[in-house]
Amino acid sequence: MASGISSRTKVCGIFGYPLEHTFSPAMHNAAFEAAGLDFVYLPFPVDADRLQQAVASVRFLGLVGVNVTIPHKEAVLPLLDELSEEARLIGAVNTIVNHSGRLYGENTDGRGFLCSLRKTANFLPSGKTVLLLGAGGAARAVAVELALAGVRKIILTNRSKSRAEEMAAYLSSRIGTCTEVLTWPEPEDLLPGEALQSADLVVQATSLGMYPCCAQTVPLPFNLFRPGQVACDLVYNPVQTEFLRRAGEAGATVMGGLGMLLHQGALAFELWTGKAAPLEAMGKALVKTVWK
Ligand code: NAP
Repeated sequence: MASGISSRTKVCGIFGYPLEHTFSPAMHNAAFEAAGLDFVYLPFPVDADRLQQAVASVRFLGLVGVNVTIPHKEAVLPLLDELSEEARLIGAVNTIVNHSGRLYGENTDGRGFLCSLRKTANFLPSGKTVLLLGAGGAARAVAVELALAGVRKIILTNRSKSRAEEMAAYLSSRIGTCTEVLTWPEPEDLLPGEALQSADLVVQATSLGMYPCCAQTVPLPFNLFRPGQVACDLVYNPVQTEFLRRAGEAGATVMGGLGMLLHQGALAFELWTGKAAPLEAMGKALVKTVWK
């Protein structure tokens, strides 16, 4: 692609810090190539002190749009001209679209998760009970989207209980979702089996099990997972986490985080280009990058 860059090439990218481990450039550049678009996607390492100037440069340099990742997803909100309803509810933006100098903030993480859930596990959240482990940024995006999709109840638990309590209060007051908060167990203890057994969907949204600490996982009575239940891990590196391995062994249908990454990227691609995302090319590029 680099040899084909000209003054007509449209530029997208990602703002975050650090960015050494991002898979998005490989995924998006493969998408542009597959779709025959004269676009390029670049990583822009931006630290917190320079976020404001970086966002202004999207307007001044005429970038089509950018993704926003850790640590800027929340800090970027007041720097934008308009927010989608989901970005406002989640309180975070992962995609900026430049509409002739007006910057529109969207959050595609939660919808990417739901899309992956539907396509991979054929799971529709309406009326279902969810056990959500974690209360960080990714958990919040997933929780808001599941709440908007009409789940019956979300049972939340997080190492720092106050964050789970805040999220539960927010979901019930803003979206009217029924919620329950469990205390994260002490070391050597496990979360209550009833909570796991009552859930149709269990979402692992903590960073436990992420490379290089791949042997770690959440304190669940894994033997109580059952066929018919869906177990999702948002961690995508490694592709097969300890959580997925153990839930799968007990009979649950499992789904890793790569599908969410793919679909949040596909939604961003569609916002920037107005075209359907070439999912197969994007998925292949992701898998190739993860296994490198
Ligand atoms: P975050 O905002 O930093 O939240 C981290 C979460 O993990 C918090 O709930 C935190 O609990 C918990 N946690 C961290 N270390 C823990 C430990 N030792 N024991 C128990 N809990 C621990 O991060 P995030 O953005 O939500 O990301 C969470 C995970 O989702 C990461 O693995 C990330 O790669 C993945 N993710 C995947 C996608 C995707 O597209 N698949 C998108 C975004 C994120 P406390 O609140 O107590 O600190």
